[in-house]
Amino acid sequence: MEAILVIDMLNDFVTGDIKCERADRIIPKIRRLVQTARRKGIPIIYSNDSHLPNDFELGRWGKHAIKGTKGAEVIPELKPTEKYYVVEKRVYSGFFETGLDSLLRSLHVETVILTGLHTHLFVRHTAADAFFRGYKIVIPHDAVESFTEKDHKQGLEYLKNAYNAEITETDKIVERLEKR
Ligand code: ZN
Repeated sequence: MEAILVIDMLNDFVTGDIKCERADRIIPKIRRLVQTARRKGIPIIYSNDSHLPNDFELGRWGKHAIKGTKGAEVIPELKPTEKYYVVEKRVYSGFFETGLDSLLRSLHVETVILTGLHTHLFVRHTAADAFFRGYKIVIPHDAVESFTEKDHKQGLEYLKNAYNAEITETDKIVERLEKR
């Protein structure tokens, strides 16, 4: 079983305090993956930054995605509607001190499809923890982004080399899921 992870597609990361100008292009792709997954009964998990005011990570990026604020909400275009899970996190990785691993195991997930922001940061650290726990990793290159093309490209390269991630595209994943 696969699961789709939507990583940090939050107001603060897309349009807010630490916005990514390049995030626009991945929104329709993630929408498509989420809609297909929902129809096919494949778990959809939102992995969302949700900080407390004294979190260490805020020292690196400044104030962002504070729990309970508008900035910490998923962007309106991707707002979860039905059949989804939300796992809040307080560092880059969706696994670190969260319930993500036990959630995935309870859903019999063996392959994680990672989407969202940023290829070289949160996606990368989430992929690391997924790899350490024995999950297979699939990355649609057109449904993840970074601040720059260089960060994005190098991020994908690293994901492939370090974690044996399958780098593919949204259309191919949709095609695969549709066959279920
Ligand atoms: Zn953060």
